[in-house]
Amino acid sequence: MSKTVFFNIPASGHINPSLPIVAEMVRRGERVLYINTEETRSQIEPSGVTFIPYPTLPELENLMKRANNGNLAGNALALAEIGERLLPFTLELLQREKPDYVIFDSLAAWGKQAAGKLGIPAAASIVTFVLGYGVMPPVSPGVAFQMISEMARRLPAYWQIARRTRNQFGVKPVGLINTLMNYGDISLVYTSVEFQPNGARFPSSYRFVGPPISQRSSTIDFPYEQITRRPVIYISLGTINNENLDFYRQCFAAFGNHPGQFILSVGNKINLADLGTIPSNFIVRNFVPQMDVLQRSDVFVTHGGMNSVHEGLFYGLPLVVIPQQAEQAMVAGQVAKFGAGVALGTKPPLGQVSAAELWQAVDHVLRHEDSYCAAAAALGDTFRAAGGYLRAADALITFGQNGRGKG
Ligand code: UDP
Repeated sequence: MSKTVFFNIPASGHINPSLPIVAEMVRRGERVLYINTEETRSQIEPSGVTFIPYPTLPELENLMKRANNGNLAGNALALAEIGERLLPFTLELLQREKPDYVIFDSLAAWGKQAAGKLGIPAAASIVTFVLGYGVMPPVSPGVAFQMISEMARRLPAYWQIARRTRNQFGVKPVGLINTLMNYGDISLVYTSVEFQPNGARFPSSYRFVGPPISQRSSTIDFPYEQITRRPVIYISLGTINNENLDFYRQCFAAFGNHPGQFILSVGNKINLADLGTIPSNFIVRNFVPQMDVLQRSDVFVTHGGMNSVHEGLFYGLPLVVIPQQAEQAMVAGQVAKFGAGVALGTKPPLGQVSAAELWQAVDHVLRHEDSYCAAAAALGDTFRAAGGYLRAADALITFGQNGRGKG
């Protein structure tokens, strides 16, 4: 039995995939301390881990909010600032708990830095496609230039943080761009090697374990009896960039007269009354039990969040992907490349679609349902074959037993 400390960030897309893995590890007798902000406790604690909150720093709350605003260079600097504030707590915790190894979300570089300083092996938890080995975000030269200049503008501030953390805590800086993606002695990547762009080029320290989907039913209420029409089309922009009244109204305009049944998840920031008149063939909720809804759906219109796309493909659902961020455009590109769905609104500004385009995309997928479903099911098969949360738990437990890099 080993003891590990898992450092994560307070975002559902980063927490959800980790939960079946840590629950499995606890079931097998591993000791798992899981660190995140106090408000994520109720999400994480039921998995059986020992939950320890990050210190409540007012700056941390603001920085975490800023880290979700879609501006990559701003996020990178915000994460570096968060890391600087969390390092004293992280170092003290690891010195006190003396874990056999650390697990850190690839955005939680402070876990890796503190582990490195104390000579503790560290495994990364990566919830997106991995970059490097010839994989670059699919952005136009103009957008790439803009991203590079925005990063360059923040370098002086980053260098100050890097100098301070080196002098005060003796930790190695990770670099500004790397605050957005860190690797470990082993790195668990929650997709299949087939779906990851250039997957076969990555060295064996990258474990493509597939999405850690545990097929337990949700306890969230949903009016399944109101699903009276077919086909069923489920629409969601995920949990972060989902405050998009215009998009939801476009959906009503596009599909209000469609013979199908539409289920729309609008996220917790939207007041349902602000949506205006909801067409009778729509069921609209702030949050739905997505895994259960997907199993009753025929098409999934998604923002291309890695978890949502994995979940849809896991059940062999064809996708219409409308990316809201650069990383989601990469996911959309892979879905289209494999013929498992279509990508919409992929030209900057990302995510801009008309009601007519929405209708055409859904109509096209439904007309060619057999081939899209077959391709989606084939990708779903690669996810199951990758092993999911059981293989991830195996990899981590072996890593803990064998020490650095031998896992
Ligand atoms: N989700 C859900 N119900 C909803 C909307 C989202 O259960 O109504 C879950 C979904 O199953 C997925 C996660 O929230 O696991 C969203 O993660 P994703 O990576 O797709 O997008 P993000 O929210 O990080 O942009």
